[in-house]
Amino acid sequence: MKILFIDDSQNTDIKHPQHIMPSMEIGYASTIIKNKIIGSKVKLLDLRLDNKNTINKISKYNPDFIFYKPNLKSINKINLITKKLVNLKNKIICFGPFPILYPDKILKNTSVKLIIDGDIEQNIVNIINYDKLNQKGIIYIKNNKIIRTGKKLITNYDKFPLPDYKLFIKKQYQFLYPLQTFKHINIGFLETSRGCPYNCKFCSIFERSSLNKKYKPRSHTKIIDEIEMLVKFGINGIYFKDDNFLFDKVRIGNLCNEIIKRKLNKKITWACQARIDDIDDKLIKLMKKAGLSTISLGVESGSNKILKELGKDITSNDILKANSILRHNKIWIVGYFILGAPNETKEDINLTKKIIKQIKPEILQLHFLKKYKDSIYKSDDSLKDTYTLELKNKKYQKYLENEYIEIYKKYYLNLKYLVHIAPKISPYYFFQFKNSAKLVLKTLKMVIKK
Ligand code: SF4
Repeated sequence: MKILFIDDSQNTDIKHPQHIMPSMEIGYASTIIKNKIIGSKVKLLDLRLDNKNTINKISKYNPDFIFYKPNLKSINKINLITKKLVNLKNKIICFGPFPILYPDKILKNTSVKLIIDGDIEQNIVNIINYDKLNQKGIIYIKNNKIIRTGKKLITNYDKFPLPDYKLFIKKQYQFLYPLQTFKHINIGFLETSRGCPYNCKFCSIFERSSLNKKYKPRSHTKIIDEIEMLVKFGINGIYFKDDNFLFDKVRIGNLCNEIIKRKLNKKITWACQARIDDIDDKLIKLMKKAGLSTISLGVESGSNKILKELGKDITSNDILKANSILRHNKIWIVGYFILGAPNETKEDINLTKKIIKQIKPEILQLHFLKKYKDSIYKSDDSLKDTYTLELKNKKYQKYLENEYIEIYKKYYLNLKYLVHIAPKISPYYFFQFKNSAKLVLKTLKMVIKK
């Protein structure tokens, strides 16, 4: 049995620089298939990294099933595959956030007959082996009506085996944040939990990788095994992809202690994403000792009114307190900010500019507010790129776009930023800043062109 995964889950045409990271669920699903279906082979085509000769590559491999993770622009690619390789017409099954949120777009515009609803690892073997329409966790179309049999979600994340990391190892994934190390980084990716129970109004449960609000952790012993596996593959930098890495601080404390105990902190440097209100001095010290270099923080705004509006449940004081803990412990910061929240005024944007100056993130990431189909700010039409403005008031839209350009330009093209960043661009961190310089230059290119 030959299985082909196609990862086409990001629109790589968007102008804002973005990471390209492996979809961890493909790694887990691959191990599960290999363990449960004797003699099975698994291959991954990552169209985000290489979309040349796709038809030839598929034809040469001649898979029994294709599991396709599409983005909102994939429909033409799927149709081209089934037009050129007619024998595969009934063998493509879609999975991932986009088909779960918009099954009609896939089922009505392509020859795809089946979508996996929920975590692919829970369902993939059943789907390969059994009667496809007679089980939970699928979406299909009957008499032009979309039928959902109910999501099948992970119940015990710890039951999963180690991911089939060989699928990812030779691919040129793109991670753009800096890590504090003098070594050339060979970056690896790991997911220690899925789900985030918070209620930030702009956040999409399904468009992020978590696939549910319920928090599902992996125990620290499993994570350590996975880190050791990555180290054996020559990986010395890790990005923990979790949406909310610090949600369970005890688990992270245990993980850090185990990293230190097994001396893995001598072999890896790492980064993660966290909420402002989870930044705690004692824990950050331990994380630093365990190899933490960089934290991405959802700061979003400098205005308490807007933070409340966004449902972030933090204040500007919390932001400054977290910043001072991180700076005191010499952790580098990637700061995410949102422009265009409902009721945001010029004064609110000025407060955001002020807090950016106070925090001085090593990397600044600005985004316009996006309404997703499944976020609390509902949108009926989420089929636009993540970074496009959807505001109805044209004058305000223009104003916001100008602010966006100005904030980026004033931040990155400023002597103060260079002074802040210069010591870190020493030869010591050269390899790291190659990546981040790429991110900064791409961002500047994007805003200067506007
Ligand atoms: S923005 Fe972060 S903390 Fe808020 S709901 Fe989304 S993942 Fe959770």
